Amino acid sequence: MYIDSHCHINFPELLARMPEILAKMDENQVSHALCVSVNLPDFPQVLALAEQHPRIYASVGVHPDYEDTPEPSVEQLIALSNHPKIIAIGETGLDYYRLEGDLEWQRARFRTHIRASRATGKPLIIHTRAAAEDTIRIMQEEGAGTDAGGAGGVMHCFTESLAVAEAAMAMGFYISFSGIVTFKSAKDLQAVARAVPLERMLIETDSPYLAPVPHRGKMNEPGLVRHVAEFLADMNGIPLARLAQQTTDNFFSLFKILR
Ligand SMILES: [Zn+2]
Ligand SMILES: [Zn+2]
Repeated sequence: MYIDSHCHINFPELLARMPEILAKMDENQVSHALCVSVNLPDFPQVLALAEQHPRIYASVGVHPDYEDTPEPSVEQLIALSNHPKIIAIGETGLDYYRLEGDLEWQRARFRTHIRASRATGKPLIIHTRAAAEDTIRIMQEEGAGTDAGGAGGVMHCFTESLAVAEAAMAMGFYISFSGIVTFKSAKDLQAVARAVPLERMLIETDSPYLAPVPHRGKMNEPGLVRHVAEFLADMNGIPLARLAQQTTDNFFSLFKILR
């Protein structure tokens, strides 16, 4: 069994195909998927998916790419996460690639999420793009990691250097690889994925984006996470069943889900 640790199946292009998406998960032995919130107005829809489907979990948070959107407070995130199917806070983090100018609001929003994570004990889903240094610094300053009494979490859709992965792992964080690692051009990232211990690894689609090879360029969905697993097992020379089992165990242990 595989778990897609990060997807956006509430986005309209996927939501309209829910029966097919669940069937494709079955076909590919994908047992669960975590539907990740990107803003507060869409949160009720994300929560509804998790309430309707036993195999869908959800998170609450506001993505750093959403500039003109209601700003969450620590109290609000704590209140909204108080539900058995809400297993994480995020996605949150920093993105200096898509947005420019004074991004102090992104850093403030990131701190808000880390404080909510510490208060609730629910792990963080962290997005970082062209902002690794500030991301790690703020994680350290706010005590996001399990080493500092935080709830830890996952560096999702990881594309940074091994040094950044190691800094995050030192704080108890997991590293999640998406379809990007399967791309021919992703040599540096593949080297990072060879160095991250299996005990720290998660797999994800980030669907509807970033479909893995051999579906690159098409619409992505949770069932396709199997291709990420196959690629990583093959590249690292480990049995596929072992990678599937360990990444599944990692998911349940990080998000404190009792089986
Ligand atoms: Zn992201
Ligand atoms: Zn995402």
